[in-house]
Amino acid sequence: MASGSMWAAVYRGENKIAIESVPIPQIGPGEALIRVLACGVCGTDLKKIHYGLVPPPRIFGHEICGRIKALGAGVTGFQVGERVSVTHHVPCLNCHYCRYQSSAQCPKYRETGTTAGFTPAGGGFAEYVRVMDWVVKRGMVLVPEAVSDDAATFIEPLNTCLKAVYRAEAKEGESALVIGQGPIGLLFTQLLAVRGITVIAADPLKARREQSLRFKAAAACDGDPTSWMTAAMRWTDERGFDLVILTAPNAELISSAMQAARAGGRLLLFGQTKKDDPFTVDAGTICSAEKSLIGSYSSDISLQAEVADLIFSHRVDVDSLVTHRFQLSEIERAIEVASTPRDGVLKVMVNP
Ligand SMILES: [Zn+2]
Ligand SMILES: [Zn+2]
Repeated sequence: MASGSMWAAVYRGENKIAIESVPIPQIGPGEALIRVLACGVCGTDLKKIHYGLVPPPRIFGHEICGRIKALGAGVTGFQVGERVSVTHHVPCLNCHYCRYQSSAQCPKYRETGTTAGFTPAGGGFAEYVRVMDWVVKRGMVLVPEAVSDDAATFIEPLNTCLKAVYRAEAKEGESALVIGQGPIGLLFTQLLAVRGITVIAADPLKARREQSLRFKAAAACDGDPTSWMTAAMRWTDERGFDLVILTAPNAELISSAMQAARAGGRLLLFGQTKKDDPFTVDAGTICSAEKSLIGSYSSDISLQAEVADLIFSHRVDVDSLVTHRFQLSEIERAIEVASTPRDGVLKVMVNP
C-alpha cells in the first residue's frame, strides 16, 4: 500500500487555497485508495471557497476519475490498476427519505464518502483520495478504455442534471427554456435534446449560445428576460414553455423564469443551493395558473448506470465541454478561470 506524503490543495479559509504536503490517506477494510487522474472544478467548490461557507481545513474536489492504487480487505468487483469514476454522496437506501424518493435528504447521503484528509470534502484536488466502504460498494464505476479521464469525471455532474430532468418530468415533444449555458446548462441542453424536447437556450455569452446550438438547441437567446418571452411567443404558440430550468444561482431571475413557463408548466430551480435566499413569487401563478415550482439537488445513485451509459456511449458529449486543464500546482489559476465566466471558458479540469 502507498505510504508517505503527497501534494494536495488545502482550503485554508475564504479565498485561500495552499498546495501542501499531507499524508497519503490510510484505508481500512472495504475501502479503496485512488490515484487521482482528473477532477472537475464544480460551482459548489467555488462557492465554498469564495464565500468561506465551511470551516477549514478541507481538501475539495468531488468529480473524480482515478486509478485504483490499493484495496482494503473484503472489496469485491474491483482490481488494483483499474480506472474508476467515484461519487462522493451515496445514500443508505433504507431510511424514510430513501424509501420515499428523497435520497438526497438521507443522513448517510449527506455524509461525504471520499477524502484526502481533514474533514471529508471530496478530496479530488490531491494526488490520492480515500474512498469509504459504502461508496466503494455503490458509488464507484469502472471506466472503459475508450473513455477519457476527463470525460469520466462528468458522471457526478451529469447525474445531478439527469435527476433534475426526471424530477421535472420532461417529456418528448415538450418545449424547454434552459437559462444559463455554462457547463451545467449545456449538459441540460444535451439531455433534453436527446429526449426529443425542443430546447431554447439562454445565455449572455455568445460562445455559450453557439455551443448550445451545436448541442442541438433549436434556438438560443441572450440573458435578457424579455428575450425569453419573445422566444416563448415564437416557439410555443404563445403559450409559454412547458418547462423552464434556471441554472443560474440568481434569485432575482426566478419571477421572470416563472413567467416564461406556460400555465400548468414547471419551473425547476437548480442553482439555488444557498439557504436564506428569499424571493417573491406570484402565488396566483402557482394556484390558479397551476405552475409548479420544483427544486433538484445533487445526484441520485439509482441513475448511475444510465448516466454512465450516456457518457460511455458518447450520446452526451462531455469532452467538448472541457476548455481548460491545470496541474495541481496551478489550482489557484484553475479556480480563477472557473470563477470568471467568459467566452472560451466552460469546464475546468485539474489533473493532479
Ligand atoms: Zn459538483
Ligand atoms: Zn437513506
